[in-house]
Amino acid sequence: MHINTKCVQEGYNPTKGEPRVIPIIQSTTFKYDTAEQLGDLFDLKTDGFFYSRLANPTVAAVERKLASLEGGVGCVLTSSGQSANFFAVLNICQAGDHVISQSAIYGGTYNLFNNTMKDMGIEFTFLKPDATEEEIESAFRENTKCVFAECLSNPSLNVLDVEMYANYAHKHGVPLIVDNTFPTPVNLRPIEYGADIVTHSTTKYLDGHAVSLGGAIIDSGNFNWDNGKYPKLTTPDESYHGIIYTEKFGKGAYIAKLTTHLMRDIGAMMSPQNAFYLNLGLETLFLRMERHCQNAQAVAEFLENHEKVTWVNYPSLKSSSQYEKCMKYMPEGTCGVISFGVKGGRESATKFMNNLKLAAIVTHVADLRTCVIHPASTTHRQMSDEELEVAGVAPDLIRMSIGIEHVDDIIKDIEQSLEKI
Ligand SMILES: *Cc1c(COP(=O)(O)O)cnc(C)c1O
Repeated sequence: MHINTKCVQEGYNPTKGEPRVIPIIQSTTFKYDTAEQLGDLFDLKTDGFFYSRLANPTVAAVERKLASLEGGVGCVLTSSGQSANFFAVLNICQAGDHVISQSAIYGGTYNLFNNTMKDMGIEFTFLKPDATEEEIESAFRENTKCVFAECLSNPSLNVLDVEMYANYAHKHGVPLIVDNTFPTPVNLRPIEYGADIVTHSTTKYLDGHAVSLGGAIIDSGNFNWDNGKYPKLTTPDESYHGIIYTEKFGKGAYIAKLTTHLMRDIGAMMSPQNAFYLNLGLETLFLRMERHCQNAQAVAEFLENHEKVTWVNYPSLKSSSQYEKCMKYMPEGTCGVISFGVKGGRESATKFMNNLKLAAIVTHVADLRTCVIHPASTTHRQMSDEELEVAGVAPDLIRMSIGIEHVDDIIKDIEQSLEKI
């Protein structure tokens, strides 16, 4: 099936008078007739729902849809994008391990890695997007367990050379984990280029309407965990009567461990209600992404030709340093996010934002309504100037998330506001 059809149809196939639309199974628990039946479920001997911290039918249907959209073997939906990236890494790392991450990543992820996970005893090496081959090679250590990057970085809009990073990771026997939030599987399916694990903040385009927080972790099923580096997946788990995940679940080992361990012990499940909202968003994802990209391209070209605009970053502009990689990985479009600077720096940036009428100042991105934010004073506020530079966030950077309104109205709004600075 084409991606459009998958968005509409995958994950839920009702028969015999069942509801046409995924029902919201708002139940924490599920009934069984005998203690033995429930015991078998706890021992992972049989498959079935028993407690919604581990699995819920509504959530499971949307997980199947997202796994299909990304071309993976399994998916876990989480309560936020933050918990998705946390779990994706924690599932294969513990104190004493090391992770290589791109430095141009979402501020929240950077803080999670550089503070919370560092405090847990996991070491991180941050690589700049333009790191040389030697710098990438020399970042790997004996205890490196994964490489992490964003396919299209928020907000600096660097396009990841997925194939190259997958090759480096695989050469060193570790998986490549990519956050595919901005392109969405409509515009890029990183597994096709060698990525092993894909994460999302579903809060953004996948939901698209700014109604529900969520995250997703999708496993390609392609990584061979049995190389001596991942004993928690390949040796008996005493908390489950000696189950060996790679033996019992094969290609589903990573997702099985994530559910049975991290969800069991920490619990950051998506709620059935939010999974229902997410599914409504996914049903029209391909339509919305097309319009986000068309509108953003027109706005980026308008900004590029405006005398008060000092620089524009949109990967599919011919002037962009990302253009070549963009044409390879996202020829159909990237996303609706544009970053740019205006004459007069930080002060003019604030003025520009205050004068906008249609575009709203909100802490959000990838909404169907056009919105705008100044990352240096908001989402990336906790970062030092030096960290900002490494993350590719200039102090004057305005991040504009172009919605699906009529493009003429969006441009008119920007034009009137630029005139006032
Ligand atoms: C927003 C975002 C996150 C965090 O997701 P939440 O749903 O807000 O927790 C992670 N990665 C990227 C690229 C994001 O844009």
